[in-house]
Amino acid sequence: MSSILEVSQLKVAFGGVQALDLESFSIQKNELRVIIGPNGAGKSTFMDILCGKTQADSGEALFRGESILGLKEVDIAEMGIGRKFQKPSVFTSLTVYDNMLLACRMPKGIWHSLFFKINSEIEDKIHEVAKKVGLESEMTHLAGSLSHGQKQWLEIAIVVLQDAKLMLIDEPAAGMSDKETYRTGELILNLMQHHSIIVIEHDMHFVEQIAVDKVSVLVRGKLLTEGSFNDVRNDKGVIESYLGTGAALQLTE
Ligand code: ADP
Ligand code: MG
Repeated sequence: MSSILEVSQLKVAFGGVQALDLESFSIQKNELRVIIGPNGAGKSTFMDILCGKTQADSGEALFRGESILGLKEVDIAEMGIGRKFQKPSVFTSLTVYDNMLLACRMPKGIWHSLFFKINSEIEDKIHEVAKKVGLESEMTHLAGSLSHGQKQWLEIAIVVLQDAKLMLIDEPAAGMSDKETYRTGELILNLMQHHSIIVIEHDMHFVEQIAVDKVSVLVRGKLLTEGSFNDVRNDKGVIESYLGTGAALQLTE
């Protein structure tokens, strides 16, 4: 299997604090990788660098063999890396459908014509993705009227419609009910058929649900360990890194 993403010696510091110091990290095509780690470990910073929001100080990141460091966010998105941020950021005054339509890649030159007919391929795709994320009946609703969980699903739909080959999903279950969290897990597991995915997550029940491949543990900007969910959950170093952070690593059962 070939790697879709290969990262080496990736470093960034903010005001003297080394937020990220990643020696080596790679994921395969159609892999679902979960990244866990205490608050401030550099998880979101890692995604910020991969999508071009933050520039690394040094290192290399190859996406499908091409370097992405130093590129603009829009160019990285065009190459096929889609980011879902921690806080949902949909257009609240537009309908769910319009939010999805805006995410679609249009045939070249379409914006030059004011009255274009949306081709049926795009229409079908929007409906297919809406069904996948469970928003079929909300298409005409304003995005602002959706529940928190539904907004997160809309954002995932937007990343799917952007044709992301690699999806970066930051804490999708934050603020969700248990039921919404479980549905989000099912959705992410379904998406891995067509996308490579990196998910950052805190909720260990949710991690257990989606960690069908490897889990990577980031601590103070460094990769502490990688392995199956059970391996990392029982790892002494991982348990110690969570002690005193107030975050629950252990499952209660
Ligand atoms: P995590 O997502 O693992 O909780 P972050 O990547 O958000 O951690 O943060 C890692 C460290 O980098 C923290 O100490 C945070 O305060 C710092 N940091 C993150 N982004 C910035 C930024 N844009 N400017 C300054 N410091 C930042
Ligand atoms: Mg974060």
